[in-house]
Amino acid sequence: MYDVIVIGAGPAGAVTSRIVSSAGFRVLMLEKNETCRSPCAGYIGNTINLEPVDDAIIQSGITKMRVYFPDMTFQDFQLNGFVVDRYLFDMELVNRSQGSGTQVKWNSPVTDIISGEIKFSNGKASGKIIVGTDGVFSRTASFMGMEKQRFAACAQYHLKGIQPFSQTCEIFFNAEYAPGGYVWIYPTGKDSAKVGVGVTCFNPRNYLDKFIDCSGVSGRLNGTKTECVTGALPIGGLREKLVSGNILLVGDSAGMADPITGAGIHNAILAGEAAGKTIIDALEQNDIELLSNYETRIRRLLGKPLGRALEKRKKMDACSNNELLQEHLPELWVTFKKYWEK
Ligand SMILES: Cc1cc2nc3c(=O)[nH]c(=O)nc-3n(C[C@H](O)[C@H](O)[C@H](O)COP(=O)(O)OP(=O)(O)OC[C@H]3O[C@@H](n4cnc5c(N)ncnc54)[C@H](O)[C@@H]3O)c2cc1C
Repeated sequence: MYDVIVIGAGPAGAVTSRIVSSAGFRVLMLEKNETCRSPCAGYIGNTINLEPVDDAIIQSGITKMRVYFPDMTFQDFQLNGFVVDRYLFDMELVNRSQGSGTQVKWNSPVTDIISGEIKFSNGKASGKIIVGTDGVFSRTASFMGMEKQRFAACAQYHLKGIQPFSQTCEIFFNAEYAPGGYVWIYPTGKDSAKVGVGVTCFNPRNYLDKFIDCSGVSGRLNGTKTECVTGALPIGGLREKLVSGNILLVGDSAGMADPITGAGIHNAILAGEAAGKTIIDALEQNDIELLSNYETRIRRLLGKPLGRALEKRKKMDACSNNELLQEHLPELWVTFKKYWEK
């Protein structure tokens, strides 16, 4: 019998499991893949509460964001953060958790949860507390009886032999290339960048190809496509319920990515810390009821910003053409002052 079973080895799972196992409890983390593999652009603001990470993990420091309107006029904003190699970043978090005592089983997709018993592809295990950190299409949330979340579909290339702007994240809004979302160019070196798109419809890769081949910046993107990843992120806002009995949801499984920017790493880590601390309290006092404090903490921390972003999401959905996007973008994107006005 484990004290805690964590389902999914992304940032939410790695941080939750590390905190609980550091306190001496028995923690098992089950991951469906053979290694960490979350598709991601890897931008993280430097407000993140993380011990220094290995230099190899950081692909570029970021000091500026350039936001393009549909007519390709742009505004620059100061930004402080970095672009990480997402595989190395996630592995570092998992290694830290293992170092604290977490047992990790790779290649172990969870297929069923009945009370405290978890069935995965090659075995079963019991835990006093179950944590669903299994991402946007969370099976844990389904076991809790929840509906599927609304999501944005994403595609991304790692382009080499191109000329990205140094230390600059570029963001492009255009209903033809990114309906409901945006295109990003995040530098990973002097002559390489992750170039991706998130959309609220299907076939993100077609939109991305069109952007790379036909947009006003195509000349700068004429390089080698070294990698193509596709993925999804939740844009429906915080789930209506984060705790049920002995089960908690953390990270994308709980709808913690921002419904406009799609950023979810920071909130996954923040929530993992809150979940870990609450779980320790519940285990130490042998009182599962205390898990509800996690929901209270999260709603206090993330309820307002995610609620605002969800309102903006509704407005963004209504901006279905470039004329509307051009006019309303400053109300819809976080770097503009207007976003923060009532
Ligand atoms: C293309 C793309 C670009 C993005 N760019 C950024 C960015 O630049 N900055 C940012 O902050 N956020 C970004 N995001 C969002 C970010 O990746 C997520 O918000 C973040 O990874 C959430 O962490 P998590 O631990 O909750 O979930 P995940 O990182 O998705 O981890 C979930 C884990 O659970 C595992 N799993 C799923 N089902 C099961 C199962 N049944 N059994 C066992 N394991 C299971 C998965 O394999 C995965 O390892 C991006 C997302 C996408 C798709």
